[in-house]
Amino acid sequence: MNLNEAYSGLKQQADLLSQDNMLKDENYAQQLMNSILSAMNSIVDENLQLPKVEKLASDISFNSGDQIIARDLFIEDQIPEGYQLIPIRQLISQWTKSEFEQASRAVQLLEWRRNHKFCSHCGHETEVHPTEYAMVCPSCRYHQYPRVQPCIITVITRGDNEILLAKNAKNKSKMYGLIAGFVEVGETLEEAVKRETLEEVGLHVKNVQYLSSQPWPFPSNLMLAFKAEYESGEIVLQEEEISEAQFFKFDQLPETPFSGSIAHAMIEHVIHNKPMHKD
Ligand SMILES: [Zn+2]
Repeated sequence: MNLNEAYSGLKQQADLLSQDNMLKDENYAQQLMNSILSAMNSIVDENLQLPKVEKLASDISFNSGDQIIARDLFIEDQIPEGYQLIPIRQLISQWTKSEFEQASRAVQLLEWRRNHKFCSHCGHETEVHPTEYAMVCPSCRYHQYPRVQPCIITVITRGDNEILLAKNAKNKSKMYGLIAGFVEVGETLEEAVKRETLEEVGLHVKNVQYLSSQPWPFPSNLMLAFKAEYESGEIVLQEEEISEAQFFKFDQLPETPFSGSIAHAMIEHVIHNKPMHKD
């Protein structure tokens, strides 16, 4: 089966991350493939392990030199025998934190390279910098570096036993999540937390405190986790973003985000006082 067949004719490329912890030959590594246009799938075997490949000149190396690579695959590339495509989101709870972070980095570097083939200043075709993560314009020398999108996510409590959970309007499942949104130009993270909460659910919050962060490669976000306390206001939904929101008692929670997501860790943190970091 090739990728074309796997995606039922969707025009996609696939990304590929390699990791070599145990192989002695540095020309070989394990791989991870992610689709670009769909839900970012990876190719894994039945044990969720990555296939081995030979390193190519066009691969992006990172972390430990040749030991970890990222690569774009093309639609005609074959899925190795015995491997399958699985969305990366589904692998988050199966993989270790470090495996997910490597995959996250690979996805974002490949996406950045793919989106910066031309100079955004003068329009000339760019070249890959030999040693840095930079796409360089040979005509005007403008350097384009990978960027992350800062995105705040907030767990809001009321009193000592209630938590605000909200349903994303685009998500048709029963799952409730947390208030989240992109940081705007010129705004502090704390201001972003207050603005997003007011916009999405009409509430004022206080005592905004930083908790933790997580790279989130869908497509290139850095999730910055905060906790905040309810201050005032009645819930008024921003209907294009949020379909439902309410305060839930700690012992009467609806379905919440899966283990491995930062939202899960945040909810566990406020309800069960669990640390945000396991390591
Ligand atoms: Zn240029």
